[in-house]
Amino acid sequence: MPTYEFQCGDCGERFDVRASFSEKDRGLNPKCPKCGSENTGQVFGNLVFFAKSGEVAFTPPAGGSCCSAR
Ligand SMILES: [Zn+2]
Repeated sequence: MPTYEFQCGDCGERFDVRASFSEKDRGLNPKCPKCGSENTGQVFGNLVFFAKSGEVAFTPPAGGSCCSAR
């Protein structure tokens, strides 16, 4: 079963969700394990896609300064 990376839009917690393709097809809307928010979006690289609102958000790399200072 594939896992998908999600991020909470409220507290920023990242977590993995296991779901079958058919479950994914019906639309995943997992709750944040940390704060219980349903405002969660799937992570694609540095982007988070919030299926509920259709929003796409850019997230800087966790920890902050890894790749920005050149
Ligand atoms: Zn949260």
